[in-house]
Amino acid sequence: MGKTLRKKLTFSYILLITICVVVISFLTNLILEMQFKNYISKEHQQKSKIIVESLKSQYIGDKEWNKEEIEKTGIDAIENDLFISVKDLSGNIIWDAFAYNNIKCEQVKGHIKSLMESNFPKWNGIYIKDEYPIVSNGIKVGTAEIGYYGPFFYNDNDIVYIKTLNQVLIGVGIISLMVALIFGIIMARGISNPILKVIEIAKLISKGNYTEKIEKTSDIEEINDLIVSINQLGTSLNKQEELRKRLTRDISHELRTPLSTLQSHMEAIIDGIWEPTTERIISCHEEILRLKRLVGDLEKLTKYESENLVLDKSEFNLGEVISNIVLNFEKEFLNKGVSITFHHKDISIMADKDKISQVIVNLVSNALKYTEIGRVEISIEAEKEFIKIFVKDTGIGISEKDLPCIFERFYRADESRNRFTGGAGIGLAITKAIVEAHGGNIEAVSKLNEGSEFIIKLPKQRI
Ligand code: ADP
Repeated sequence: MGKTLRKKLTFSYILLITICVVVISFLTNLILEMQFKNYISKEHQQKSKIIVESLKSQYIGDKEWNKEEIEKTGIDAIENDLFISVKDLSGNIIWDAFAYNNIKCEQVKGHIKSLMESNFPKWNGIYIKDEYPIVSNGIKVGTAEIGYYGPFFYNDNDIVYIKTLNQVLIGVGIISLMVALIFGIIMARGISNPILKVIEIAKLISKGNYTEKIEKTSDIEEINDLIVSINQLGTSLNKQEELRKRLTRDISHELRTPLSTLQSHMEAIIDGIWEPTTERIISCHEEILRLKRLVGDLEKLTKYESENLVLDKSEFNLGEVISNIVLNFEKEFLNKGVSITFHHKDISIMADKDKISQVIVNLVSNALKYTEIGRVEISIEAEKEFIKIFVKDTGIGISEKDLPCIFERFYRADESRNRFTGGAGIGLAITKAIVEAHGGNIEAVSKLNEGSEFIIKLPKQRI
């Protein structure tokens, strides 16, 4: 089992922040230590300079020193963890911190040592003495020896400062980690919740439940695309499923009648009620032919009505294609005494030539089928974005009641009159499926006993 996305994201956030905090703390400490050491040693030099300056002014002249003031400076120095010893030119001690108060000096020294050793175990401190000449009026009058624990040391205030700084860094680290954790969880939720929903819906889809939809949206574009895709998948599978169900229902309905007729005819012959005359056998044969035609039409319909009707588009002259179709139909029209005219125009279109031809053939054959006297006129028009095809006849027309349903599968306007024509009510459904697959639409205008007009609108541009 792999890690969940949520755990992985949260863990990544925490890891990232931990690395950042550790690196920042390490670098801060490093830079601070360097700067601080620098500052401490500069301060030490400054203090030493002040002490020497102060001692210089205590030389009265003629080998005489203001011992009281020197002592004051010495005591101040002990307070600052420095131990001074002042000697005259002959090396005689004028004032010495250890001689003044050995216990106090040892105490201060010991305190520094233990402070440094406990806080900085790697610190190798030793007692260092720096010698400075005391110069008065350009003449050396003595020597000041300033002792301290070196190479550098921190006093109590410095240690408190460093400790506080580290505590602040730790605090910042802890707060950052907590923020990372919360942020990581929120972010991970934002990403994983819609994904979990997508998984749930995908599972439902795999079980055949296509109607469930994901309402949630995400502010992450890719996840939104995923949600839209899975919703579309559900919708498209649902459509396919409905189509399949409807088709199965329609097919069984359509097949039942001719099969029952055949069955009853055969049973009557078997039971001896009917003689198997040539006439009856021919009638059965016609029924079988009708069934065969129906199955052929169904095959076409399934192909054209399926969601993924593949169009093999190319640019062709629509006027030319219609002219050829009209030519092929001419004899049938002539036999029936109906005239057919086409106002030829050179209009090129980007479409599936075979399927558009099929559309024209369907409309023209319907016009022929349902027109007894008069004429059929075909025309085409190119508009700005669309191309229009008109197929008009002066036939029997379609009633107002039937008009909205004629594009439905297996719909026949009037059963009694269609028995003669033998149509299964599939042609217009196929026509509509092809036109819509091209991004166009088809409509019919008709008046009973006056005639019908079918108008197809196809987009010009490539789709
Ligand atoms: P069919 O194979 O029955 O012609 P169609 O799908 O082509 O099936 O047409 C559906 C119904 O619409 C037809 O049964 C017919 O009643 C009606 N129809 C189609 N075209 C015409 C037309 N030009 N004139 C009158 N009725 C028509």
